[in-house]
Amino acid sequence: MHAIVIGGGMVGAACADALALNGVRVTVLEPGPVGGGATAAGMGHLVVMDDSPAQLALTSRSLELWEALARDLPAQADYHACGTLWVASDAEELEAVEPKRQAYLAAGRGALLLNAAELAHAEPNLRPGLAGALRVPGDSVVYAPVVAQFLLERAGATVRRGAVTELIEGGVRLASGESLHADLVVVANGIGAAGLLPGLPLRQRKGHLLITERGALKVNHQLVELGYLKSAHGGDEDSVAFNVQPRPTGQLLIGSSRQFERPDREIDWPLLRRMLRRAAEFLPALAQTSALRVWTGQRCATPDHLPLIGPHPDLDGVFLATGHEGLGITTALGTAEVLAAQLFGGFSELLAHDFTPARFGRMLEAVHA
Ligand SMILES: Cc1cc2nc3c(=O)[nH]c(=O)nc-3n(C[C@H](O)[C@H](O)[C@H](O)COP(=O)(O)OP(=O)(O)OC[C@H]3O[C@@H](n4cnc5c(N)ncnc54)[C@H](O)[C@@H]3O)c2cc1C
Repeated sequence: MHAIVIGGGMVGAACADALALNGVRVTVLEPGPVGGGATAAGMGHLVVMDDSPAQLALTSRSLELWEALARDLPAQADYHACGTLWVASDAEELEAVEPKRQAYLAAGRGALLLNAAELAHAEPNLRPGLAGALRVPGDSVVYAPVVAQFLLERAGATVRRGAVTELIEGGVRLASGESLHADLVVVANGIGAAGLLPGLPLRQRKGHLLITERGALKVNHQLVELGYLKSAHGGDEDSVAFNVQPRPTGQLLIGSSRQFERPDREIDWPLLRRMLRRAAEFLPALAQTSALRVWTGQRCATPDHLPLIGPHPDLDGVFLATGHEGLGITTALGTAEVLAAQLFGGFSELLAHDFTPARFGRMLEAVHA
């Protein structure tokens, strides 16, 4: 069996790897560098999230898969099991975090409450007066482009330079005009899928990141404010939240912002200032730290914040693996497991949840019924 995977990002690479493990010969089509899209733009925080039962299942299973993969990763992947601290600004936020802790425990993940003193001990550079935190020790961070390259090599995939302009029967057409044929096509080109298959429920959601110089203040965990959940899942307005990651180089990666309808790569300076002010409210010494680089990237969002994984509702032999929004590094491995189970009939506990693109058709039918 021969499969074409469109897109050499983290998701395409994970799918290529899963296909190869099932005996499939894989060709990956990628116009740019491997992992050069959203994969390079992201933070690489491997994080369990509980916005919905399906998201909790997908992220927690993916973390298990990451833990297994970590043993084989090259050192340059910078995999680091630093855990996450979900920081509570006040007592109300800390009390409200209990259902989240219970959800994580039910999913088999560690999660424990830290009071104010324990939080100050764990992260002395946070401002005094914070109420505490939820510590999720199993979360990690990784440099995803290296992992994408590693998985493609492990898959023995042929990576061809080229952009797909059209899906044709039994294959794809490239920008060069050449047609390629395969038994199966996996559309894993992130936000590029919105242009290739315009009917899909996908929207771009822009984000800014900043990396500091080396020797910035010391942070031990990925630090995220509990208010991040509102920012990540809130409405259409621009939002920022405190989200800081320690890098092995002694730098800090600082996020995060969210904006719809900003398809460009420009830096939105007022929004960046807002984002940094928010970060400095939690880590005051950041105000004295210099930035090395700022960049933006586009998340590929669906209306229910879950990826599209599965057969295209109308195109035979075409499967989708896109729409991972701000969790595509985390969930790439779970996505690949779902895809492989759909294709080859293997067991995955994730099949209990509906990630298929057809769910949106069913939602529309329900609305019109
Ligand atoms: C600011 C920011 C922070 C983030 N932080 C995190 C985080 O901490 N944790 C996390 O889990 N996720 C995070 N994400 C999300 C994560 O980066 C994405 O969900 C993930 O990278 C998606 O991977 P992908 O392979 O689907 O897409 P991409 O990495 O974009 O890969 C798609 C590839 O397809 C190629 N392509 C496009 N069109 C075509 C075409 N027509 N033909 C052939 N190839 C094509 C592109 O060149 C690209 O390389 C973040 C994203 C952003 C923007």
